Formats: sequence, structure tokens, C-alpha cells
Amino acid sequence: MKALVLEGPHELNLRDIDVPKPGVEDALIKVEAIGVCRSDHHFWEWGPDSGMMNFDGPKVMGHEISGTVVETGKDVTNFKVGDRVVIPFSGSDGTCKYCNSGQPHLCENSYIPGVSYIGGYAEYVCVPKANRNLAHLPDELSFLNGAALGCRFITAFHGLVDRAAITIGENVVVFGCGGVGLSAINISKAAGANVIAVDINPENLKLAKVMGADTIINSNDVGAVAEIQKLTSGGADLAVDALGLEVTVNNCIASLKKGGRLLQIGITTKNGGNVSVPMTSVVMREISVIGTLGMPPFRYESIWPMLSAGKLDPSKMVTGEISISQVNDVFKEMSNNTVKGTNVVTSF
Ligand SMILES: [Zn+2]
Ligand SMILES: [Zn+2]
Repeated sequence: MKALVLEGPHELNLRDIDVPKPGVEDALIKVEAIGVCRSDHHFWEWGPDSGMMNFDGPKVMGHEISGTVVETGKDVTNFKVGDRVVIPFSGSDGTCKYCNSGQPHLCENSYIPGVSYIGGYAEYVCVPKANRNLAHLPDELSFLNGAALGCRFITAFHGLVDRAAITIGENVVVFGCGGVGLSAINISKAAGANVIAVDINPENLKLAKVMGADTIINSNDVGAVAEIQKLTSGGADLAVDALGLEVTVNNCIASLKKGGRLLQIGITTKNGGNVSVPMTSVVMREISVIGTLGMPPFRYESIWPMLSAGKLDPSKMVTGEISISQVNDVFKEMSNNTVKGTNVVTSF
């Protein structure tokens, strides 16, 4: 099968590799669509020996996959040949204490495509423990829509709904209007919140409007915190840091009213993930700091009806349908910061 194999930093080559053979608990999926993600770009920059790709065989990235089941092991009972599926990136083993307490996204032995096993920039991908690590894609939704959810939409959904318990009428501010920020805007709007989007890039702010932001703030033009305090008459209920910079964490905290919640989605990559935050202010104003990671696969059941009804629409963020041979160019554009929106591979 055709697959993009990472053979060195910035060295992504289209190769012909063996189609994986599913074991008794596994399912072989024909990849119909796969989203090109910024985390893949990090892997692309670091190369295959960064310690992030923990599997034998060709180093194939890619974790935002929708497709069709073409073969199943004998113990796979929840899925059959011909089923339309997405592969949740929060895969799990089903045996650890987190899996057993309904938190498979925190599994101690997670199964992430392109990280724990050969990923989806290929014609086929073999999903381990398929009974628990696949989700049915409803017939009315396209493969493009399934892949466009990516890791960003489901991470934002779990964060806002399950972790931060967003409610109707709340003032929500989202710092950073990249993929995960735009997803958070779309979901917050669907949840009935008043949504303020902050970024420094006018193009991103235009997309924020498209995804449902009620108000946009270019923080290059005005002081975002003061503007938010004014717009919300004293501070937002919920601030989402979708970037993970020291300045955005701090601006989030400063934008909240007393008792507000900071939802931290962006991973802070600098200084080993350490940022300086005003903990006295967090204490004195009873701010809650909430982390979030991925989403349990069973939560897709709550997302599908909202997608079918058009309340959520990740496909609005898709700016390019590309072929597998163009993925390398997208990574180059990401390096130059010239990439807009989301690209999804739909031809192989
Ligand atoms: Zn587990
Ligand atoms: Zn991703």
C-alpha cells in the first residue's frame, strides 16, 4: 500500500509498504480521509527518532482518520466489514484503572495512531482492540466531516462540555483562533454561550466569525483584557487558552470574573511546559484551572447529532482537500506560517 514514511527530520517519502495484518482483536480500515495536524508537523520537524513514535515498522504518522472497515479479527464484535468509522485518537487498552473508571482517554497504555502504532497517512491502517478504539460514523455525515473533527474538535468538546461544564448564557473568551480555538468557538456558540475570540491575525479572526464568535478582538489593536472586562461587565465566566503561551495563560486569568474557570487546552511547549502564573490572584478570586486531554471515544455519540443538525460544523474550517503526495508541502507551509485553516487528505 502507499504510505508516507518519515525517514528523517523533514524527510517524508511516499513508499510502498506491506498492508498490516489484523490480529484477533484488531480491524483493518481503508483510510478515506485524514486531517493534516500541527502535531504531525512537530514530528516531521523532529524526525522518526524523537521518541514520539513508539512502534516497530515504517514510521507513518497521522491520527485524524475516517474510513471503512475492510477486515476484522475474530474477536471484533462491535464493527463489521463495510462499517463507516472514525478512529478516535484517544485509544486505550481497556485494562488499566482509568479505563475501568470510564476515563479511557487517560489510559496508562494509550493506543494513538501514528504514535503507538502505524498511523493513517496510508491507504490502510490497522486499529488494535477495535471493539473499543473505533467509533461509528453516521451515514449522513461525510468522511471529510469525520476526519475534519480531528483531534482539535473532540479535544475542545471534551474540555468545554465534560471538564469546564459550559452552560447557556455564559461569557466565554477564547484566546488563539487556530484549529483548536476555532473548534472551541464553534462548540461554545452551539452550547449557547456569548463568545469572544482573541487573536493577532486578522485572517484567523475572520474564521472565528465564521465559526460563530459574537465578538472578535485583535489584541494587536486593543488591550484584550480591558476590552473583555468591559464587554462582560466585570469578567468572563470561562476563558479558553487555545495557544499555551505564558501571555495567553495570564491574559485568560486576568479576563475572568471571580469564580471563573480557565480551561487550558494549549500545551505549553517552552521551558519544559512551565509558565509563570499569578497564583495569589487565582486563590483570592477563586479561579479554577482546568486541564483537558482528548476525549473518551464513547462521547462521539453526543457529537454526531449536533453535526447532523449543522449546529457544529468542522468542515467550515477545511480550506483544502488534498492528495497524500501534497502533505509534505503543507508541513513546509506550516514551517513558514503560511497555512490557513485545515487540510484533509481525501485521495491516495
Ligand atoms: Zn487503560
Ligand atoms: Zn491532530
